[in-house]
Amino acid sequence: LEPKEEFEHNSLAVDVMRPRRADPSLAVLTQDGMTVGEVEVSNSTDYSGFPVVVSAESQRLVGFVLRRDLLISIDNARKRQEGVVSASQVVFTDHAPSLPADAPPPLRLRGIVDLSPFTVTDHTPMDITVDIFRKLGLRQCLVTHNGRLLGIITKKDILKHMAQIANRDPDSILFN
Ligand code: ADP
Repeated sequence: LEPKEEFEHNSLAVDVMRPRRADPSLAVLTQDGMTVGEVEVSNSTDYSGFPVVVSAESQRLVGFVLRRDLLISIDNARKRQEGVVSASQVVFTDHAPSLPADAPPPLRLRGIVDLSPFTVTDHTPMDITVDIFRKLGLRQCLVTHNGRLLGIITKKDILKHMAQIANRDPDSILFN
């Protein structure tokens, strides 16, 4: 995102975030209760990362995990850690889960979660969000409403949005 031009258009985070209305819902991981096999299925999409939430019902944000780090950690665990199999629980919490005695050992992945991912609310003006992306060198940020996770905005989403506005109305970027 080039710093030279001002982004002065009155769009909001909700206008730029994904998923859009017709899209499949946001791909998230829950902080516990998922198996290695289930995480691997989520990870077979090509999103760069996944928000981690407390539960599917609450959609409360715990953090953000990069797909690359998940792939490496699961791969390493399957190779090295005794007993980690598809049915093993993946835990992103800081406490160990209580599992039945005959359950396979859990895979603890708190260490790869970014616990303070950048977030904006759905009504944050995009000029502010663009400014923060530039200043902090962000690749993505999460969008919430009343503490519930709603969506994600990547740097590419912003670039596409800017290009769309410029095509529609070349003056609108600078002169609103
Ligand atoms: P990029 O935008 O750089 O290609 P991604 O591959 O992560 O980055 O994202 C591709 C598209 O999917 C973007 O429009 C982004 O907003 C969206 N996206 C990213 N992560 C997720 C996710 N976990 N669930 C749903 N959509 C996502």
